[in-house]
Amino acid sequence: MGQTRRGFIRMAAGLGAAASAAPLLELGRRLGAEEPAPRKLGFALVGLGKLAGEQIAPAFKNSRLCRLAGLVSGHPDKARQWAQQYGVAEKNIYDYQTFDRIKDNPDVDVVYVVLPNSMHAEYTVRAAKAGKHVLCEKPMAISVKECDDMIAACQAANRKLAIGYRLHFEPYNLEMMRLAREKVFGAVKLIEASAGFRIGDPTQWRLNKALSGGGSLMDIGIYALQAARYISGAEPVAVSAEATVTDPVKFKGADESILFHLKFPDGILATCTSSYATGLSRYWAGAEQGWFELSPALYYHGIHGRVSAQDGPKDMQFPDIDQFAAEMDDFADCILKGRASKVAGEEGRRDLKIMMAIYEAAATGKTITL
Ligand code: NDP
Repeated sequence: MGQTRRGFIRMAAGLGAAASAAPLLELGRRLGAEEPAPRKLGFALVGLGKLAGEQIAPAFKNSRLCRLAGLVSGHPDKARQWAQQYGVAEKNIYDYQTFDRIKDNPDVDVVYVVLPNSMHAEYTVRAAKAGKHVLCEKPMAISVKECDDMIAACQAANRKLAIGYRLHFEPYNLEMMRLAREKVFGAVKLIEASAGFRIGDPTQWRLNKALSGGGSLMDIGIYALQAARYISGAEPVAVSAEATVTDPVKFKGADESILFHLKFPDGILATCTSSYATGLSRYWAGAEQGWFELSPALYYHGIHGRVSAQDGPKDMQFPDIDQFAAEMDDFADCILKGRASKVAGEEGRRDLKIMMAIYEAAATGKTITL
């Protein structure tokens, strides 16, 4: 062939108008020409804590569309050490005071907010004003009003906003959604979802309501709420709840454990548990002709799923993926293709609204209508 593969792609792409290049690119594909490598978007991490260090930063090596390009931290020595470890240019390090200067940095396309919950709104709004797309960790914020401000700021700046709901990209959780949506066992009637872990250090921000916005519900119970919503495929119409504290010294301001019921249209009920007192990681859906479950359901790795069958439960078989790479790649793809994210700000806002109703139900003992 007189034409190299790369040359062919360049020629086809160089034709300019997508309409006229498309048939040539298709021909190139059939001849086995390589696809041009996708442009990787530059992400800046804000808050270099446990999640950023143990899960997100290492996930870039498994990402197709994202690269670690910037670091924002209150600790310059740590930021410099991360920069060396991950090959981030020192000029792309910021602290919380210099953060707004990120607007002048073309290396950074996306700001990933990995701060304590009460700081999510401020840094999302500042990132949007700096012209950056925002991926913000869950919970989206600590009030519905903050969610509204974050959505409005990103809309005003014409930037995308997504929430770090990694399980929306995880194969076992996606299978739970599919089994329910396609009514593989008939219509789902009852859901149980439990999420919890035993919290350690009593001085950490998670137990300080001003920084966490609550306690276990905002942090881990949100997974049970999410599961009930994405398995039912519906929005709850009413909630009731009961909170309990077994360690009043540790849980002075924050909630320890909350049991909550969500009532969905058609009478579907979800029984959910959120806890900082004990480990919990289980989703179960009971349908007309069987059940399906995940246990553990929400770990970073090792999720296990089963479905009922006449001759005994059968294991689900799916790959164990890097959930953070998948979540970041989906957001990058949304930006590059101009498509909507399935975990956009509106999705985070829905959870905040329901969690506020759960807190109200627990405090008053009343059923709260949504
Ligand atoms: P960490 O406490 O480990 O890290 C938070 C980082 O935020 C700190 O290291 C610090 O970074 C920065 N920070 C700035 N101001 C404060 C402050 N006043 N107090 C404490 N930290 C501050 O928290 P996590 O990494 O566990 O959680 C961060 C976010 O990620 C939370 O919103 C949490 O809900 C979410 N998360 C999500 C998970 C998921 O699976 N999607 C799992 C775990 C957490 P620096 O020193 O660089 O300034």
